[in-house]
Amino acid sequence: MTSLVPLKLETGNVVIWNNPNPSSTFYCRPIKFQFAKETTDFVKQEQSAMEEEIRNLTISNCGNFEVTHELHMTMIDGKVTTIITDTPSAATCNVCLAKPSEMNNLSLMFSRPVREDVYQYGLSTLHMWIRSMECLLHISYNLDFEMWCARGDNKNLKKFRKDMVQSEFKQQMGLLIDVVKQGFGTTNDGNTARRFFRDYQKTAEITKIDVDLIKHFAVILQVLSSGKAINIDGFRGYCKETAELFVHHYPWYNMPSSVHKMLIHGADICKHFSCLPIGILSEEAGEARNKDFRNTRERHTRKTGRLQNNEDIMHNFLISSDPYISHLKPKYNIFKTSSMFPEAMQLLITEETKEFEEEEEQIEVDQEAPENLPDPLE
Ligand SMILES: [Zn+2]
Repeated sequence: MTSLVPLKLETGNVVIWNNPNPSSTFYCRPIKFQFAKETTDFVKQEQSAMEEEIRNLTISNCGNFEVTHELHMTMIDGKVTTIITDTPSAATCNVCLAKPSEMNNLSLMFSRPVREDVYQYGLSTLHMWIRSMECLLHISYNLDFEMWCARGDNKNLKKFRKDMVQSEFKQQMGLLIDVVKQGFGTTNDGNTARRFFRDYQKTAEITKIDVDLIKHFAVILQVLSSGKAINIDGFRGYCKETAELFVHHYPWYNMPSSVHKMLIHGADICKHFSCLPIGILSEEAGEARNKDFRNTRERHTRKTGRLQNNEDIMHNFLISSDPYISHLKPKYNIFKTSSMFPEAMQLLITEETKEFEEEEEQIEVDQEAPENLPDPLE
């Protein structure tokens, strides 16, 4: 599935329109879908076809206005990032090519040469939530023998702890953790991970992982998905502190490449997109679309032939992402700062936060675009 999410429309420095919900499918326009296996060759071929189309984009003429377009390829998951950045394996960092055995040598990690051109593919924020949770869970499973991987008798120890952790999460928080779903990976999704980190004290009790470390992860993930401008230097320091905390408590567990990317390169990747907060560049809308796909295909399409079937899927997607229809839906602020930890708030640029909130209030009051600027949707 290839999709596009419009994020904002601006003239000079004046923002005419902001996508109120960039992580939802409300404005997630389908470009194409294909039934094919996600192989290396296929992904690369799709990427270059897409880049070719972007290069050939012409200026849109809208009455008295001319609109130019700036596109970012950030709505991709870890697997696709690994392929398009020519990284040898998913366990290797795609920015600095560090191998798993090197990950916990922090002084080396902070001084390694980086491939800055990889920054343009963003951070896959949604997957960061899930990968961070899985990393802490795996540390927890291995706590009895303190080794990166379980061999021999340790396998039983690991299984015992895993069963215990899973049943505790189910009993105390109603969460299904790490349960394999037939054909669709595991039950670990964004919602599970967000609960896991929000109730960090309970999570620490169940997993026996250092509570401070879980809180640090929660703060970083909240900042990344806040959709607001980040205080880069403050954030960089906080990530470094988290990496040190990780290595201090669990030196025997090699930091996974995704967690490494977030803690070591996260601040630089955010800086690369200076004018767009990293939170609005997540792959969440695309992932939600994948989920929609199955549902739509099963329940809202004709089953009289492949052609009709595909046509109905495309029509459904065009309707559910139609900018005009979506802009009539009630607005709600998904980037709520009220539910964020104070530590996370401190890592955001506060003046901008204020402006954003004022803007949101104004929209609630008059539901109209600012005066003397045309509403692009009309
Ligand atoms: Zn790296």
